[in-house]
Amino acid sequence: MKSGLFFPNHFVRIALQSLEEVIGPGGMTTIYSHSSLAYLAEALPPDDMNKQFDFTDFAALFETLQSIFGSRGSRSLAMRAGRITFTRGLTIFGKGSITEPQPGTGPLGPHSVLIRLNRLSNFLNTVSDQRSTVIATDIPDTFIYTVQVCPNCMDRSSSEPVCAFYEGLLSEAAKTFSGGLEYSTRELQCMAGGAEACIFEIKLD
Ligand SMILES: [Zn+2]
Repeated sequence: MKSGLFFPNHFVRIALQSLEEVIGPGGMTTIYSHSSLAYLAEALPPDDMNKQFDFTDFAALFETLQSIFGSRGSRSLAMRAGRITFTRGLTIFGKGSITEPQPGTGPLGPHSVLIRLNRLSNFLNTVSDQRSTVIATDIPDTFIYTVQVCPNCMDRSSSEPVCAFYEGLLSEAAKTFSGGLEYSTRELQCMAGGAEACIFEIKLD
């Protein structure tokens, strides 16, 4: 059973290229075949923004990554892939619209990080069926990013959070949006573990 919820082809293409950069082409072939998605070894999703790549398949690729590399190993690999995906994606999807300063707020600083995280969230909500929101917390330089419909853990179950791809993507986003400061992202709760949403804390190191 597929979810009927989709990422655009181009986003998945970048995510898979990023994962390949981390684990190599041989590793990807193994992951594709163990995920019943062997066709991806022949051709990645096309270079268009059609919403055609099912979240169930996207999550399955990361579940296979976990089964091959273990929880800890797969987490760091998925985080790296998430970071690269953000960097590659930003150069392709409206760099200006996400990162340009809000009038009056200046180019950098925590406020601009929140504004830009919001733009990223809105962008992903628009181009895909993932659903996310972002808020600032009472703690300085700390944000909560909530994913209510999650492509990373769709149909997965795990005793620990598994959406490390998002952890990497959000860490890299906050770094870029702040002008180069290091943020770390931790998934506080995950739908794979029965939570109502996947909740990520992004904070300045
Ligand atoms: Zn998730």
